[in-house]
Amino acid sequence: VSSSEKKIVQFRLDEPLEGVPPPPFPLWDAHLHVWDAGAFSGFERWANRFGVKRFTAIASPDVKASLEQRGGKNRFSFALYLPIHAFADHDTDTLLSSLEIARSQSYDMVKLWFGPRFLDFTDAVKPFAISHEAFEPVFARIEEYGMPVDIHVADPDIWYRRKYVDAERYRTKLQAVDEFTVVLDRHPGLRAISVHFGSLPEPRHRALLSSLLDRYPNLHIDTASTKWVVRELGRDPLRAREFIVRYQRRILFASDLSIGRFDEEEGYYAKRYWSQRLFWETGVREVPLPFSDKDNDEGPTIINGLELSRDVLENLYWKNAGDFFES
Ligand SMILES: [Zn+2]
Repeated sequence: VSSSEKKIVQFRLDEPLEGVPPPPFPLWDAHLHVWDAGAFSGFERWANRFGVKRFTAIASPDVKASLEQRGGKNRFSFALYLPIHAFADHDTDTLLSSLEIARSQSYDMVKLWFGPRFLDFTDAVKPFAISHEAFEPVFARIEEYGMPVDIHVADPDIWYRRKYVDAERYRTKLQAVDEFTVVLDRHPGLRAISVHFGSLPEPRHRALLSSLLDRYPNLHIDTASTKWVVRELGRDPLRAREFIVRYQRRILFASDLSIGRFDEEEGYYAKRYWSQRLFWETGVREVPLPFSDKDNDEGPTIINGLELSRDVLENLYWKNAGDFFES
């Protein structure tokens, strides 16, 4: 970006689309959490302003039913959380019965969460690994049903340095990724979205992520969460851009927004969508992320845009989710 092209861009709640071009394509948000269907319309007004028209919602059966009743069934696909506590307890039967609920209620996907911090709020059976034999019947059944999984494999590198120093208790990130590949090797038919850029958006993991995508054709990744992905990919925007161009059919746009659970900060939805759209579509440099990133100990997080081409954006924003959920 030459200095003549540089202009000051920053998020403003009274002009929430400032700096963001008109959406080149409709967007499909492939990962958001809806805790309360009543809160959805407030969110959707914001989503529409940013061009987000379709939603893959992680939602309970009640929330799913009421979103469907409000019409526009074709705007949604749904994922059901398999209970985290059942993973912690190695409770195969509970996991299998949740899977039956997902199937009988026509969910499109199941969500699995393996953040190491769950060891702090459950009495997890140890040692803990995604590849543990207690989960085998569950993955086998998921594969048999042809149901895709949305899976959180690990957390930011920064957390392993700060919170998960006890590697025996929490396992390292590479162990977690390795255990996930054991599951993928056992179940070649399993279609997976590994969220948060495969938990590997940090520049030092680029080669690893690339080798995983090459090795497992059914593996996809998403672009949630905004601060983690924007911070890490933005450290080396040229290489990040190259990576995305290369794997453009395997990456789904996603926010990980949480709707109806917390009292949201002002502009919560707008700030995330603004940041991501600016990041993917423009070549801005060093624009401040408009919300706090306590994970970043090197100073405030900035947005260094990747300026993806229209074709690549169309894949990330729309086509890949369409192919994934409608195949
Ligand atoms: Zn999530």
